[in-house]
Amino acid sequence: MEVCSAYSMTKSDWTDLIVKMGYSQHVLPFFIQGLYGDRTIWERHLEKGLIDQINRNFDLSLPSISAVQTSHDGTVKFLLKFRDSAEAETVLIPFHKRFTVCLSTQVGCGMNCSFCYTGTQGLKRNLTGGEIVGQYMVASRWLMEKNPSALKPSIVFMGQGEPLHNSDEVAKSLYILNDPQILGVGHRQITLSTVGYLKGLKKFTLFPRINLALSLHSPFEDERTKLIPLNEKFPLSEIMPVLDEIPLLPRQFITYEYLLIKNFNMSDRHVEGLFELLGKRKAIINLIPFNPFPGTHWERPLEEEVEEFKQKLVEKKLRVMIRRTKGSEILAACGQLKVERLARNYGQR
Ligand code: SF4
Repeated sequence: MEVCSAYSMTKSDWTDLIVKMGYSQHVLPFFIQGLYGDRTIWERHLEKGLIDQINRNFDLSLPSISAVQTSHDGTVKFLLKFRDSAEAETVLIPFHKRFTVCLSTQVGCGMNCSFCYTGTQGLKRNLTGGEIVGQYMVASRWLMEKNPSALKPSIVFMGQGEPLHNSDEVAKSLYILNDPQILGVGHRQITLSTVGYLKGLKKFTLFPRINLALSLHSPFEDERTKLIPLNEKFPLSEIMPVLDEIPLLPRQFITYEYLLIKNFNMSDRHVEGLFELLGKRKAIINLIPFNPFPGTHWERPLEEEVEEFKQKLVEKKLRVMIRRTKGSEILAACGQLKVERLARNYGQR
């Protein structure tokens, strides 16, 4: 029988269950503290019958670390193994004064984006809310062990998988990650990145009010479809009106990720196209120089081409940032650690 992960349960799930099992809901704070921290709290504050039932009916284990690689810029990449031996990547990225954990939401991915290594793997399965929460716990515990004074890491849903293609489990994980009595990661510290899976995007307003990033990569439908085949089914012309309906907090913007690909999407026509698309919107453009991986035909632009493109957007009064790729010497493009390992296991390298 499939045992439910204890980390898949929201606070209200636990309240209902504990009351249903005949215990007072006042034990909940001790229960949560013990589950996510020091388990000896349970022995001091909970009745043995409750502890026994939880141990019997729930999986309390976290994903195990199959491999870990550290880059000299401080990026740490984990390959995590789940109960069924499926594996996915989780990455800890140093960013200003705190780390960010990049979470995967699926094993592999079915979106087949042409610039992404994970897209070469196909979709194996969705991760559960508990497996998503488990990734954050493993990475943040690893960080705290190495650096006990580190701040609580922020979160980006930018690892393997399209988060909105697994929106129910992602929503569940968000309620657990964001709950101040559970993991307490502030909603402004969480960003979900999507290629525009419209069915899931329409549910975004039901999630905690986290930040949203759209992988844009071109303001033109035909070009965007070359990079993101899903654009054929859910084009920008349908995505943008849905984004416009998302209520934003003061000083909150939607981020538009823009992969910079040499000789493809960096011309003056693209500057004009971006201005037309985003000039009147609460938008930040995040420029990301493409990080080549084995077998790709896309090329990385030169540093001066990146700066020049940025400057042209700034002259149009667009808000622009450049995201430098971290951990490139450990193949930071999503999915690469796993594909490398698979290749080794099958003797291809
Ligand atoms: S970029 Fe994201 S959505 Fe596209 S194939 Fe890679 S993991 Fe999937």
